Amino acid sequence: MASSDNKVSGGAPSHASITPDTPAVTLDCLSDSTWLQLKALGLDQTLQQIHESERRFRRLFEFGPVAFHELDQEGIVRRVNEAECRLLGVEAGSIIGRSVFEFISLGEQSQSREAFKRKLSGQQPLTPFLREYVRRDGTRVVVEIHDALIRDQSGAAIGIYSALLDVTGKEEAQRALKDSENRYRALFEGLPSPVFVCDSESLRFLAVNEAAVLQYGYASEEFHSMTLWDIQPRENLPALLQNLGRTGSALDRFGVWKHRKKDGTFFQVDITSCAVPYGDQTATLFVASDVTELKQAEAELARKAKELARSNAELEQFAYVASHDLQEPLRMVSSYTQLLARRYGGQLDADADEFIGFAVDGAARMQNLIHDLLAFSRVTTKGHELKPADAEAALSQALLNLKAAVEDSDAAVTSDPLPRVMADSGQLVQLFQNLVGNAIKFRREEPPRIHVSAEQGTGEFVFSVRDNGIGIQPQHLERIFVIFQRLHAGAEFPGTGIGLALCKKIVERHGGRLWASSEPGAGSVFYFTIPIKDH
Ligand code: ADP
Repeated sequence: MASSDNKVSGGAPSHASITPDTPAVTLDCLSDSTWLQLKALGLDQTLQQIHESERRFRRLFEFGPVAFHELDQEGIVRRVNEAECRLLGVEAGSIIGRSVFEFISLGEQSQSREAFKRKLSGQQPLTPFLREYVRRDGTRVVVEIHDALIRDQSGAAIGIYSALLDVTGKEEAQRALKDSENRYRALFEGLPSPVFVCDSESLRFLAVNEAAVLQYGYASEEFHSMTLWDIQPRENLPALLQNLGRTGSALDRFGVWKHRKKDGTFFQVDITSCAVPYGDQTATLFVASDVTELKQAEAELARKAKELARSNAELEQFAYVASHDLQEPLRMVSSYTQLLARRYGGQLDADADEFIGFAVDGAARMQNLIHDLLAFSRVTTKGHELKPADAEAALSQALLNLKAAVEDSDAAVTSDPLPRVMADSGQLVQLFQNLVGNAIKFRREEPPRIHVSAEQGTGEFVFSVRDNGIGIQPQHLERIFVIFQRLHAGAEFPGTGIGLALCKKIVERHGGRLWASSEPGAGSVFYFTIPIKDH
C-alpha cells in the first residue's frame, strides 16, 4: 500500500496488533448455564468444531506465506497479516484503522475510490491488477492484487479481502521480454534486406519483412500462402536441402542464388540463414541480400583483371622477345661501328670521325638500354621460387658486383645485421645492387657514406639504404620509380632510367612496397619491405 508520497512507512512487522478489533472467540467466556443449555440442545460439539475451524483459518491468515489484508466497505484496513507487513516493510499498527486510499498516490486516489465502490456494488469485475509500492528503504515492490468480496449473512458485500502477490521480478522480466521483442521486431522490419521466416519442413512463409514485400512485389498476405519454392527455382533444390540439414542457430551463408520476383524477373541474392524459435516450433530464417549489381561488378572486374593479366603477359613477352632479339643485330651494329672507328679513325675528315663516334656511343647506349629492359622483363618471366634467403649474403654479393664502383668512389658501405627472408636470392642481389649502385652514382663531392639496415615491423621487415648523396626534390619522389624516368642528363649521371622501376617490380613480386624519402643536398633513404612468411 503506497502512501501519498508513494512510500510506505516501515518498521518491524508485529502480528500482536494485526487484528485488534476482532478478538478471537474463546469458549471459556461462556457461562456454565449457557454451556449446559447448548449441551442440552446438542450444539456443544458443533460450536467446538466451528471454533476449531475459525482458529485454523485465523492462523492461516496470520502466519501463511501469502500477503493478505481486509478492508471494510469504506476502504479502512481492518486486518493485515504478517506476510503483507513483511512484503511492504510496514508495521501492522501503522496501517490498521487507516484508509487504504491514503497509501495510494494522490493522482490515483479518486480513481481507486471509484473502482472500490464499483467492485463492492458488483458493477466492476474483480480482475487482478498491478500496483507498485516504494518501501521506506527506497526499494520498489510490484504486487499483483487479487480481490474477493466479504459478504454478511444476507449476502451483501461489506468489505474486500485482498491477497497480494510479489511480481517484482516477474514484471521486470516481462518488460525486458517485451522490450527485446520490440527491438527484434524493429530490426526485422527495418532491415533493408528481405528477411523470411519459413517453416523448416514445408518452407511455407510464416513471416516476411517490409523489404521482402518491396523487393519481391508480393503483398505480405500473399507471402503467407506461398512457400520458398514460389520464389526460388527448383534447380536449387539439392543445394537447399543440403544446407537446410546443417542450419544451426548461428547465421550461416547459403551462397548466391537466383530468386524470382512476382513480375517474373530474376535477381541474384546472397542468402544467409539460421534456425530460429517460432512459437513452439523451430523455423528457418533467411536473409536475402540483393547482390545483382555486386555480381555484375564482380564479373566485370574479373573480366578486366583477366584482360589486364593477358595484356600484361603479352607486353612482358613482347619486351622480352624484343629486347632479346634486338641484342643480336645491335651487337653487329655495335661491333661494326667500333671496327669502323678503329680502322678508319683519322683517315676520313674530322666530321666523319665525330659521326662514327656518335654511332659508337649510340650503339653502346642502346645495348645498355636493351640489357636493362631484358632484365626488367625477366623479373616476372624468369623469376625463381621464393625461398629462405640470407639478406646479408645478398648484400655481400651485390657489393662484390659493385667492387669497382665502390673503390673508384672511395665509398664506405656499412650495414646492420640483416635477417633471413623469403625471397628470390638472385633478385635480392639485384635489388641491393641497384639501390647501393644509385647511392654511389648520385653522390656529391665527398666520398659516399652508405648504410644498409633492417627493422622488424608488423608482419614484415623494413629494409633501408641510406646515403649522403645529392638527394631528390620532394616532387620527384614518386616518378623516379616509373620506367625510363630520370632526373638527370646522361652526361651528368649515366643510366637508362630502368633501375628503380626494376627494383619496384622485384619488391612487388615479393609482396612488399618500395619508397624513398630525401633531403635534397643531404642524402636519400630508400625503403623496401619484405613480408615475414613461414619458411
Ligand atoms: P638511372 O639510375 O638509370 O637513372 P633509376 O631508375 O635507377 O635510373 O633512377 C631514376 C632516377 O632517380 C635517377 O635518374 C635519379 O635522378 C634518381 N635517383 C635514384 N637513386 C638516387 C639516389 N640514391 N640519390 C639521388 N637520386 C637518385
